[in-house]
Amino acid sequence: RFKIGILAVQGAFLEHQVALKKAHASFRPDSYIEVIEIRHLCDIKPDLDGVIIPGGESTTISLFLQRNGMIEPLRDWILSKTHVTWGTCAGMILLSKITENMKMGGQSTLSIMDTDVSRNFFGRQMQSFEADISLLDEELLATAGKKNFHGVFIRAPAIIKTESPEVKVLATLHRDDVENDIIVAAKQGNVFSTAFHPELTDDYTWHLYFLQLIQKVKNS
Ligand code: GLN
Repeated sequence: RFKIGILAVQGAFLEHQVALKKAHASFRPDSYIEVIEIRHLCDIKPDLDGVIIPGGESTTISLFLQRNGMIEPLRDWILSKTHVTWGTCAGMILLSKITENMKMGGQSTLSIMDTDVSRNFFGRQMQSFEADISLLDEELLATAGKKNFHGVFIRAPAIIKTESPEVKVLATLHRDDVENDIIVAAKQGNVFSTAFHPELTDDYTWHLYFLQLIQKVKNS
């Protein structure tokens, strides 16, 4: 049995729900998946296996979490070794310890991953675009069964620096106008983040990866 919570403050949470159920059907049709929406403090339960922090607007989501006293409880939940967390887009920003060279100190973000994130890396001209990204991690490559993934980027952030050897780069994007390949997905422990929106495509590679990681944590 899988029990997943999706932070449902704002943004693309319904799409995640649909994608998760489809990925689960191909992965473990023999088991049951329950997906709940996290809107209140009481929804952050220890028996959840995984949490998704979806895209949207990071300031709005962070203000909501602050007003409802949810930052610390969610942070504690994420830091428990038996839980898996995935942040997409705004979720990547919220999970980062440093945003645009500014230490967040756990104040307004969840401050979990040793990454430095640029909130609107691609700027105004490139508000939204689609591009193939390169998958780098071995487990991820095994899940995907291919080397590329078609990423949908919407006012997307990017990881401009990893601040610890514990952070593994999962995927990069090559652009002719940027010198180095851009880090668009990374993992630290049982927490990972993606700058793009896999829930907006019908390729369930990342949802499958999330479920497989949960299965691995459950088995360990
Ligand atoms: N760049 C946005 C922010 O600052 C995130 C955009 C997204 O989640 N699609 O919150």
